[in-house]
Amino acid sequence: MPELIESHVDLESLPKDERLARRRHSAAHVLAEAMLDLMPEAELGIGPPIDTGFYYDFRLPRPLSQDDLAWLEDRMRKSVAGRHPFVMASLTKDEARERWKDQPFKLDLLADLEEGNVTQCTHAGFTDLCRGGHVNHTGELGAFKLMTIAGAYWRGSEKNPQLQRVYGALFETPEELEAYEHQLEEARRRDHRRIGRDLKLFDLVDEIGPGHVVWLPAGATIRRELSRWIEDLEIEHGYQHVITPVIGKSELYKRSGHWQHYQEAMYPVMEREGEEYVLRPMNCPHHILVYESELHSYREMPIRIAELGNMHRWEKSGQVTGMSRVRIMTLNDAHIFCAGQEQVEQEVENVLHLMEEVYGVLGLKNYSYRLSLGDPDDTEKYVDNPPMWEMGEDLLRRVLRKVGLEFEEAKGEAAFYGPKIDVQFETAQGKAETLVTVQVDFHLPAQFGLEYVGEDGERHQPIIVHRGILSTMERMVALLIEQYEGAFPLWLAPTQAVVIPIADRHIPYAEEVAGQLRAAKLRVEVDARNERMNGKIRDAQLRKIPYMLVVGDREAEAKAAALRVRGGTDLGATPVTQIVEKLRDERDTKALAP
Ligand SMILES: [Zn+2]
Ligand SMILES: [Zn+2]
Repeated sequence: MPELIESHVDLESLPKDERLARRRHSAAHVLAEAMLDLMPEAELGIGPPIDTGFYYDFRLPRPLSQDDLAWLEDRMRKSVAGRHPFVMASLTKDEARERWKDQPFKLDLLADLEEGNVTQCTHAGFTDLCRGGHVNHTGELGAFKLMTIAGAYWRGSEKNPQLQRVYGALFETPEELEAYEHQLEEARRRDHRRIGRDLKLFDLVDEIGPGHVVWLPAGATIRRELSRWIEDLEIEHGYQHVITPVIGKSELYKRSGHWQHYQEAMYPVMEREGEEYVLRPMNCPHHILVYESELHSYREMPIRIAELGNMHRWEKSGQVTGMSRVRIMTLNDAHIFCAGQEQVEQEVENVLHLMEEVYGVLGLKNYSYRLSLGDPDDTEKYVDNPPMWEMGEDLLRRVLRKVGLEFEEAKGEAAFYGPKIDVQFETAQGKAETLVTVQVDFHLPAQFGLEYVGEDGERHQPIIVHRGILSTMERMVALLIEQYEGAFPLWLAPTQAVVIPIADRHIPYAEEVAGQLRAAKLRVEVDARNERMNGKIRDAQLRKIPYMLVVGDREAEAKAAALRVRGGTDLGATPVTQIVEKLRDERDTKALAP
């Protein structure tokens, strides 16, 4: 017979996070109770607390619907009103096996537990296998709401049965729950996948495969503007742009170490005429070959080799997300070959200045610098060379301080061969991601036996600085979509202005105005559809087009247009020559807001 365990808890005396964990965990029990009432044949998986609430996994005879969620939530509230106590008891494994004999997943869990007694929790006549950590009764759950249904494999493995996971949100007060829902709504509103679809920026086509982005004309325009800008800027800063193949023989990646460290993330090998090729997972080996194509003297150094390089990573199907996690990406990449430490220091400093310049122009928010260190105790994960680590870490720390950037340090986040500076940013979903890195690398130069002729006439080994600025075009555009909420600054806006004729007889004048804007290389459309003017203005606003030029009789007479800004401001009748000048100026200065 199960033996009762005293488990009363004084909730208010607990720290908030533990209190919340108890409420969330207890709510999962109540959800399972409700589910068995809805479908008595439900098989129960696990139901842990999570950051924002709880979930429970079930194998069910049919897929759940939104109506089911509403029903379950209602049923849970009935249980809450009953203030049923949670009662813990201890029982032998045999008793447990007997109790859950019709619950295969519980039996599976039991098989993993050590011999001896296990514990269960009962409330409102529902009993679950459980280690404990509840509130006293169902009246103490807090403010909750069932949110979504998702698929999940038992124990997270594709080899196991697929279950249905019900997510609930739970906070202590209705206000906190509401704030969370508001935050979710915000994230949905800014989500680059939704905006990208609405504004026809990019597409993901099943026939091409997940994670392979199709840039539609509007998105391709944004990307082209960014590419031209960064290439010009880099050339101005002494970079040499190259174009190298997206493919290479497998030996190249064996030599670089990617084969050994990276193979899981690589596309499978292609074989023909006895030769083995792979799609490159990174650009570094190619740029090293560019460096190696001739012998360099210290006088030419540093040599900065840059490319908007295509890379390929086999992300698992379940992991690819919109444009922020893709399989084929274009990295704004560069490798700086330095003669000696002093040069490395200067180059890292230049890179940080360039980053600040670029992020300033884009008006980037929510980013921060992180110095990612190795771990001297973990020689398995990191190259065992303490002096090299110390030197690299000191150097990066010194430069960050010199440039005056705030940063945090993170142990155990370095690359396997050296420390790095990461630029971290927060997505609309509130997830921290690494945008780009700056890495100091002594390892690849040794691996490839790279050389330069020093001042002393002897051969020396260069040091490589790997760096990105814009990150991949995919990730940067995803980030910008979310940050601007689709309302791109004029220089990046796919369509910069639309001319709206009030009546059909104004179409020729509208075309003339558009022609004047086009002559200034502005991207302009004429909306000659047979629609009401207000409808056309609304459509242009939905498409986040920065400027609308409305033209009728009076405007044609005065060689003007009634100028409206996408936010709603009406600037009134303005001579077309003045509009052209205003827009050109706004574009050329890359002004953030119209
Ligand atoms: Zn429990
Ligand atoms: Zn690299």
